[in-house]
Amino acid sequence: MRFHLVASFRLSADAGDAEEEIADFFDDGASEILQKGASQGQGSKIVGWELSGDKIRLDIRSDRYVRAHDAILRLRKPLATILGKKYRVGIRGLDVEKFEIEVESKKTIPHKIPYVKEIEHQEGVLKLILDVGEADGQIGEPELKNNVPDRIVNLLDDKLQEGYGGKAEHWELLWESAPRVPKFEKDPTKELIDRGWIKHGSSRGQWIYGPQGAHLFRVLERIVMEDIIEPLGYQEMIFPKLVTWDVWKKSGHAQGVYPEIYYVCPPKTRDPVHWEEVMDYYKVTGEVPTKLIKEKIGEPIGGMCYAQCPPSWVFFQGGTLPNDSLPVKIFDRSGTSHRYESGGIHGIERVDEFHRIEIVWMGTSEQVKEEAEKLKDRYHKIFEDVLELHWRMAWVTPWFMAQEGKAGLSELEEAGTVDYEALLPYNGDWLEFQNLSNNGYKYPKGFNVKAQSGEQLWSGCSGVGLERWASAFLAQKGLDVENWPEAFRERFGEMPEGIRFL
Ligand code: ATP
Ligand code: ZN
Ligand code: MG
Repeated sequence: MRFHLVASFRLSADAGDAEEEIADFFDDGASEILQKGASQGQGSKIVGWELSGDKIRLDIRSDRYVRAHDAILRLRKPLATILGKKYRVGIRGLDVEKFEIEVESKKTIPHKIPYVKEIEHQEGVLKLILDVGEADGQIGEPELKNNVPDRIVNLLDDKLQEGYGGKAEHWELLWESAPRVPKFEKDPTKELIDRGWIKHGSSRGQWIYGPQGAHLFRVLERIVMEDIIEPLGYQEMIFPKLVTWDVWKKSGHAQGVYPEIYYVCPPKTRDPVHWEEVMDYYKVTGEVPTKLIKEKIGEPIGGMCYAQCPPSWVFFQGGTLPNDSLPVKIFDRSGTSHRYESGGIHGIERVDEFHRIEIVWMGTSEQVKEEAEKLKDRYHKIFEDVLELHWRMAWVTPWFMAQEGKAGLSELEEAGTVDYEALLPYNGDWLEFQNLSNNGYKYPKGFNVKAQSGEQLWSGCSGVGLERWASAFLAQKGLDVENWPEAFRERFGEMPEGIRFL
């Protein structure tokens, strides 16, 4: 990666008298400053400079080790010292004239990037020509100081690493249960529909659970309550289900969640006059005028619950947790999660609206790891002794690394995600039915939550997807209660009668 920056320091007066000293500095002292922190032969180089009246114009080229924009900021102070002491000339500001970034790449970027005026791709080199100046959307002194070029570089790194649309996911088997002879080999959703336990909702990827389906979900939930939540001492909270951008900026989801969000837009006003046209249209045509509605609603303020825990952090934001309250252990089961799964929806396995219990814990890194082990033990007992599943655990790229790249989080080796997967006998695929993540200091940092001891706070979370638990169980055991494991039958009790139709 190469940078080319041309920029001028604006001076408070003509600095002609200082020319010799400036020349000495650029000949000698400057190069040390521009290579500090980089290896031999790396860093920034001043390839040209020019003093004309009250301007020092610099032409800097660099690699990625001391980037040209860092270099020029490093030069300001020593130059100010030279000019100020003897010549009483101050540095007023910095005017950027040209800023280009070049990187070797087989592919180009097919869309606009903020602050980039032009993208050229020739002979395996991708060149970004930045838009420079003082206006909004241009690179000037404030943008250099606020790390805008570095963010563009990170974006490039991300994009060129693995291609667009997600990086290759890491997947590593941790443990697999003994195989079990399936009691059932059909698609459980079809069977659920045939028996009238569930019906399609009116929205895509949405189901209505009749009394039998609802009872199954509640029994699974009760198992989580009785075998995990209560013995481990988790407290129930109620997390919001409409999530604002502000939350997703802090949780990191704002980096990449867009293709899967159900967006939420409030009305521009609740004045009935504003909406009269819509109502009249409907009354006359019997159709809801969605295009007209689009004009009358505001911009999206966020979306429906995607991952369950991020909005809960607003409760903790800015707070300090007393040592004797750690680890904090909470959970939420207060509402649905929504994801636009596009063509991927399938049965109750992959839906756009789902039900999940989210377990969250926070404490020191030791406490967070310890708590994860306790949860893993509890899960293990449930899947082996109650549900009797054929299941496995895999170590996977945690969501925040998948979305943001590992940059800056490499010290978080112990952070990461365990996916729990179950075999679906009807198609031979493994289905992720829940996960358990050690999120490192991601959330406490993002939401500024501290521990009394001053030690860095960490957190973890685990999402128990009820649709996925039900899919895993029913796919392996079927819908006939007599084929279910004894321990589960006991917990299940009586099958509800259900709704009958003529
Ligand atoms: P997948 O790879 O199957 O899409 P994911 O990695 O997107 O899953 P996570 O973001 O880790 O899933 O979500 C945590 C849990 O939420 C999952 O283990 C699962 O139980 C549940 N879940 C996620 N997406 C869905 C969905 N579309 N339908 C039902 N449950 C879901
Ligand atoms: Zn979570
Ligand atoms: Mg998914």
